[in-house]
Amino acid sequence: MSLNIHNISPSKVVRGEGAWTNSIEAITNLCKRPLIVGRSNATKKLRTSFKNDLLIKGIQPISFDLVHDCCELDIQNAFQLARNNNCDGIIAAGGGKVLDAGKLIAELLEINCITVPLSASTCAGWTALSNIYTPDGKFIKDIVLKRCPNLLIFDHSIVRAAPPRTLASGMADAVAKWYESSLTSSSSKDGFVQQAVQMARVLRDQLFLYGYKAFKDPLSNSWETVAEGCALTAGIIGGLGGARCRTAAAHPIHNGLTQLTYKNKPLHGELVGFGLLVQLYLEEKNSNTQLPRQAKSQLIDFFSQLNLPISIESICLKNATSNEIHKACKFACKDDSDIHKLPFHINEKDLFEAIHSYQSLSANSNLRFK
Ligand SMILES: [Zn+2]
Repeated sequence: MSLNIHNISPSKVVRGEGAWTNSIEAITNLCKRPLIVGRSNATKKLRTSFKNDLLIKGIQPISFDLVHDCCELDIQNAFQLARNNNCDGIIAAGGGKVLDAGKLIAELLEINCITVPLSASTCAGWTALSNIYTPDGKFIKDIVLKRCPNLLIFDHSIVRAAPPRTLASGMADAVAKWYESSLTSSSSKDGFVQQAVQMARVLRDQLFLYGYKAFKDPLSNSWETVAEGCALTAGIIGGLGGARCRTAAAHPIHNGLTQLTYKNKPLHGELVGFGLLVQLYLEEKNSNTQLPRQAKSQLIDFFSQLNLPISIESICLKNATSNEIHKACKFACKDDSDIHKLPFHINEKDLFEAIHSYQSLSANSNLRFK
């Protein structure tokens, strides 16, 4: 067996009610002058309360608000501020893009990294990966980091208060792990990869069983299983499976769709979920089994219950002309795209046809659109 190096998990994970308050001592052990990185106005009050909690304990944090998505410009600005102020740690508090930015800033400065997901919309608080976008949100590339965060704080009372839409988006992203990894990695002889793929299956089953309940009732036990599944377990799968437990088409389609402009910008998982439906349509066209078709209709029902977009219209494109969709397909089918890890060949024309045909199929069904 060739050599494999894994970043399986953060050094320490604190999860549950009051996780933030209970982690303050651990934070003081990791840094004395952290940069608190965040973005949205909706989380500003919370981030200010984090700052005050740390000040009381004698830590001297400073704050930085990202302006855009996780982009080079914001990362450069945060990097300079942290360096000029001798920051010795990063506390990234927000959604996936804030967490990705925080992890990369910490890596560039070679200082400790603490992630505090404020929603369950992605597993970015866990992983040793950062996705880089342009300032206006077009996906550029992902960067593999040297390590997972030193500390991940998953505070249930904080995450519970996030908009339900973020949890639904997290579910679409997490459920994709099974459909993508089983397609690209099920023939792997590596035990770690096999175990990661099976974990993705168990996670999918839990999302099907408890997802709707969790979406409707954040105080339920289902919510805990589902929120932690999306924000934590999905990260373990990536850590255990490593680079070979790759994405298939759903994520590359997401990457292509981010190249377009939107009336209301969809969340990461919302685009991944749509990409997953197109992936299953592609599988259906390229295999002799009924399984992809069944999986697709099961997912359309599941996504509809969660109010997730299931058609190209419902992802709020500003301009859904053929030219625009072609642009997304071209990006998704770039030479180095994971879409070429599919067990059948696909080019941008096939993908365009799939998005178009999938769309007319869903338009013919009586499903509720967002
Ligand atoms: Zn994702």
